[in-house]
Amino acid sequence: MGIMGGTFDPIHIGHLILAEEAKNYFGLDKIIFIPTGRPPHKHWDNMAEPIKRYEMTLLATTDNPDFIVSSIEIDREGTTYTIDTIKYLIQKYKDTEFYFITGADSIVEISNWKNSKELLSLCKFITAKRAVVSDNKLEKTISEIEKKLGVSIDILPIPYIDISSTNIRNKIKKNESIKYYLPDSVRDYIFKNKLYID
Ligand code: ATP
Ligand code: MG
Repeated sequence: MGIMGGTFDPIHIGHLILAEEAKNYFGLDKIIFIPTGRPPHKHWDNMAEPIKRYEMTLLATTDNPDFIVSSIEIDREGTTYTIDTIKYLIQKYKDTEFYFITGADSIVEISNWKNSKELLSLCKFITAKRAVVSDNKLEKTISEIEKKLGVSIDILPIPYIDISSTNIRNKIKKNESIKYYLPDSVRDYIFKNKLYID
C-alpha cells in the first residue's frame, strides 16, 4: 500500500501524478492520501483549515477507486508526526508492506523528522525529483541514508513536475488562472470557499 502524506494546501496534479506513477511502478494496490493535521515544520496558522484540505483531497481523488483518503491526522489533537501515523497503519493493516511516497524536498529534510531512523525502517521510501532540490543533493542524501541505516530509497523515474501548492496559492492571490494545475472540482471548491485570497 502506498502512503501519500502532505499538507495538500491545496492538492494539485503534482501529487496526483506522483501517486499514480508510484502505484503503477511498484504495483501497489491502493494509495492512501493523508492530509496532515498540524505538522511540526509548517506554520499551520497560515494554512487552510484541516477539514478544508481534507475535503479538497477527497474531491481530487474521488474518480480513482485505488485512491483512499484518511482523516487520521486531521482528527488528531496537537502536532502530528508521521511516525505515529505509520505505527497506526501497521497495526490496522497487518501483513501489508507500506511505501511512503515523497518528493525530493521531503527526503532531504527527513533526518529532522521525529524518529526518522525508525520511520525509515518501518516503510519503504519512494521519492520523485523536484526542481527545488538539485539531483546532486538528492543523490547525496539518499546515499548517506542508505549507508548509515542500511535501507534503500528509490527514485521514481518520472518527469519533473514543477508545480507546488505555494505557487498555486500565490497565483490565486495575484488573480492568475490556476486552471489545469489541479482538478476543476478543487478549483471550484477554492473559489466557493474563498481560500487563499489573502
Ligand atoms: P507547499 O508548497 O505548500 O509546501 P507542496 O506542493 O510541496 O506544497 P505538499 O503538500 O507539501 O505540497 O507535498 C506533499 C508531498 O508531495 C511532499 O513529499 C512533496 O515533496 C510532494 N510533492 C508535492 N508536489 C510535488 C511535485 N510537483 N513533484 C514531486 N513531488 C511533489
Ligand atoms: Mg511542500
